[in-house]
Amino acid sequence: MTDHICATCGIWFETDSLPPACCPICEDDRQYVPRDGQKWLSPGDLKACYANRIEDDDGVFGIGMSPAFAINQRCVLVEAVAGTVMWETTSLVTDEAVAAILARGPVTAIAISHPHFYAAMHLWAAALDCPIILPYADRKWIQRPSARIELWDGLGRELLPGVTLLRCGGHFDGSCVLHWQDVNCPEGALFAGDTIQVSVDRKRVSAMYSYPNAIPLGVHAVGQIAQRLAAWRFQKVYGYTWARNILADGDECVGRSLEEYGAAISA
Ligand SMILES: [Zn+2]
Ligand SMILES: [Zn+2]
Repeated sequence: MTDHICATCGIWFETDSLPPACCPICEDDRQYVPRDGQKWLSPGDLKACYANRIEDDDGVFGIGMSPAFAINQRCVLVEAVAGTVMWETTSLVTDEAVAAILARGPVTAIAISHPHFYAAMHLWAAALDCPIILPYADRKWIQRPSARIELWDGLGRELLPGVTLLRCGGHFDGSCVLHWQDVNCPEGALFAGDTIQVSVDRKRVSAMYSYPNAIPLGVHAVGQIAQRLAAWRFQKVYGYTWARNILADGDECVGRSLEEYGAAISA
């Protein structure tokens, strides 16, 4: 079997030999195929041209790629008292990054906000010897099946004491955020993925069906996200990429932003 990595979304595919005819993630309305067409990379291309970027991101241990690749998400370690969850994945898995993570302790599970960040989840799970927790609602978007994938259904799932996945929907049916609050994070933090995206001013958030194609959500979906987050308290909101984080009054920023959004699309 041969591995192929989509250059636009960063997701790994496996075929007998030739690359897939298209990338279903990028053909979908929420992504895009570049003007000069679909491009695939081999694992060798990826290792030759990129490294893992490993650094602190406003108080959490982050792993991304350097130079920036595809959607340029970074994953983080949610280092709770009861264990560690790796939130999101990148397309590149290096020995250096795996060693840096495991030096901090074992990883209990990988959780991912939505299919745009499935990337090399199968490789991360193998390297870290842990399960991948994904919502049943998004199972059709899994491109690389893995025995380590555990599907869950419902609106919330506690991964560890103080670490809870909240399924808000919107961007994808299964779109999740992760809430963390325990002795290691007493002020509370929300890891938002693309379920809600932290704006460039780091004072507000938005929620879109497609970010690159600027397709908004409807009133019902925006209200549902607001309603599912209403009971949760958090000071920080960690966005999908480096330094796109709200550092204070996160729950108020999210509540206010979604209220304004709902009012704007109802007017
Ligand atoms: Zn793609
Ligand atoms: Zn997305």
